[in-house]
Amino acid sequence: MGISGKSTMLTLVKGDEPAVVKKRAANRLRVERYRRRNGVQPKKYAGPTKICPVCMLEKDRSKEFYWYISSQGKKKTESYCKSCNQEVQKNRDWAKRLVEQVKARHVKKCPDVPCDLTPEFLRQQLESQNGKCPWFRVQLRTELGGSFRHPDQVSLDRIDNDYGYVQDNVMLVSQAANLARCDSPIEVFAEFVQKVRNP
Ligand SMILES: [Zn+2]
Repeated sequence: MGISGKSTMLTLVKGDEPAVVKKRAANRLRVERYRRRNGVQPKKYAGPTKICPVCMLEKDRSKEFYWYISSQGKKKTESYCKSCNQEVQKNRDWAKRLVEQVKARHVKKCPDVPCDLTPEFLRQQLESQNGKCPWFRVQLRTELGGSFRHPDQVSLDRIDNDYGYVQDNVMLVSQAANLARCDSPIEVFAEFVQKVRNP
């Protein structure tokens, strides 16, 4: 009994590039071979390189991809390469991006407190602040800088740092103010800003 033709046949999906198809076929062959020899499905193996589905280039997994820790505690590689990832993030809606970032952070820091932020809420919030940073009174920038963070880029800050990312507890501030305030209480930072304005 040989390898059945069907399992090794390439199934071309519309929009797939040859490099990706080739890699998939090679992987399917490897799995097939392993299963025939050992009678069980092999463990998933992440190779040293990975093809980025945006630029279609095969790149070093450890150097040219960002990684994250999954909810199961496993180290995983992002699907797009670093440069494509930056481009993708740059073109995304700022409110959606902030909500997603916050939810990821929220899960780690305060899992018991409900997180009720939505992109619509953030857009309303920006409007109610006249698009300005309440500390530094600069117009907030909603576009990303790419490889760096603009000092006037919009970011989300908690009023009370001990409490979660919920609608009553957040304000939109500039990146510079957010980093400057760090973890100091709101009264302390307000006093500091006052001193800077009227030395
Ligand atoms: Zn790429």
